[in-house]
Amino acid sequence: MDYKSLREHMVERQLMPRNITDDKVLTAFRKVERHNFVTEKLRDAAYGDHPLPVGDGQTISQPYMVALMTQALALVGNENVLEIGTGSGYQTAILAEIAKNVYSVERFESLANTARSTLQCFGYNNVEIRIGDGTLGWEEHAPYDRIIVTAGSPRVPLSLVTQLKDGGRMIIPVGGHSSQALTSVEKRNGRIVSKDLCGCVFVPLIGKEGWDS
Ligand code: SAH
Repeated sequence: MDYKSLREHMVERQLMPRNITDDKVLTAFRKVERHNFVTEKLRDAAYGDHPLPVGDGQTISQPYMVALMTQALALVGNENVLEIGTGSGYQTAILAEIAKNVYSVERFESLANTARSTLQCFGYNNVEIRIGDGTLGWEEHAPYDRIIVTAGSPRVPLSLVTQLKDGGRMIIPVGGHSSQALTSVEKRNGRIVSKDLCGCVFVPLIGKEGWDS
């Protein structure tokens, strides 16, 4: 399989026509080898316009959704980013290509361990992964310039708002169990300004400040 061509095709057919215009995002998508973040059986399907299973009933999001969320973060390159829901580590790698440091929290030990070794193997040394309940954030490295949540939540967890820097931005799917609104949350002078970006469907964010199950 010519994965490099499949990647270029993904960028040109799935991202650029849908208004992904940030060069840093497009460059990261051209570089990160998505096929290495899925199981061997799914490699040839890795660049398709859809999500894929990654184990423990979880999914690696559709490339366009990863791109849209990354673009919405408006990264310049010097940010400390908190990611909730490491999953395969693909989104983590895209963030690590652009931002300064990425701190990622995953509730499933097996997914966190696999993602950690994949990211190490590809030389990402600006990433740290922790196993735990991400609805409570990761106090140690707070406050964060940006926060990205890659699972759907019934509300914006207060711990995450607290750990967001003033002037910072969080992108999080908020809504019901089966569909959500992709939401941008900005903190300006201690006040919260929220904006709905589009509809989306994510697996549930399960934890103390998310869903019970
Ligand atoms: N960004 C991932 C997509 C992951 S799907 C990727 O690119 O592959 C959402 C992930 O959120 C799942 O792995 C799920 O286990 C995780 N998750 C759900 N609730 C969580 C919580 N409270 N804390 C940390 N991770 C959580």
